[in-house]
Amino acid sequence: MQKNNYFMFLNLFKREKYLLNYFCTSIVSHCNLNCRYCDHFVPLAKERIFSVEELRKHFKKLSSKINVQAIGIMGGEPLLHPDIVNVLKMFRSIFPYPKTFLAIYTNGILLNTMSDEFWECCHKNMIVIRISKFPLNIDFMPAFNKAKKYKVLVQYYGAKDGEYKTMYRMALDLQGSQNPEEMYKMCWQKGFCTYFQDGKLYKCTTAGNISNFNNYFNTNLTLSEKDYLDIYKIKNNKQIKEFFNNSIPFCKYCNIPKQVDKLPFEISKKDIKDWSY
Ligand code: SF4
Ligand code: SF4
Repeated sequence: MQKNNYFMFLNLFKREKYLLNYFCTSIVSHCNLNCRYCDHFVPLAKERIFSVEELRKHFKKLSSKINVQAIGIMGGEPLLHPDIVNVLKMFRSIFPYPKTFLAIYTNGILLNTMSDEFWECCHKNMIVIRISKFPLNIDFMPAFNKAKKYKVLVQYYGAKDGEYKTMYRMALDLQGSQNPEEMYKMCWQKGFCTYFQDGKLYKCTTAGNISNFNNYFNTNLTLSEKDYLDIYKIKNNKQIKEFFNNSIPFCKYCNIPKQVDKLPFEISKKDIKDWSY
């Protein structure tokens, strides 16, 4: 290989971005349902609507460092965003089809009321809608008719046919006395619940949203700089790889064996025991 070509090859290699299979993100922090055990601590969250411009800034930066195969657009309840059409357009302009799969995860309460502009936007930008299947007694036929008209894929999510989505209760150890490596080894969230917010990548929605829990209950489950990746400070792929391959100090707050799965849907009474013990 000639010298110039060799250096071009090295530069290309250096520029290759880290490939993440998935992350989810919030475009609003609040929800119109407030489920018990919500793993984003949404019943405890203050209302926040993320502006298109702040989202664009962080996602542009993220996309300069990382390629991603799938993004879950969540909340809170994402359909509560007053400018959702422009949020969706922003996502697709930064993460083009078909490189990145985009899906909205919604409880569906507002789905029948969404505008034609919304449906058209989902069609044009190849955005899939996934409805969490809670026992809400909503007739989704109008939404399915709109989806058919605009050729948008709408799917139920989180439960088999004839069943409803269940919840899991995390078991936060408020003293932080668990062994982080041991807990991380047992944790089912790793790789499935990567979360991106305010320019930071978290391994899980628990760490990424713990401020909702701390602010509401006046607890102090602390996050250190080792508990997330600040995308404005990432220097190379090695740093990203190391972050995703290892436990984080915050894992000391999770008692994985004490978690309880398959709990029926209920509305939250904001009891600290719904997330901790
Ligand atoms: S619908 Fe989803 S975001 Fe809203 S409270 Fe329930 S689990 Fe949390
Ligand atoms: S803090 Fe660690 S153990 Fe707890 S959910 Fe996140 S990755 Fe899993």
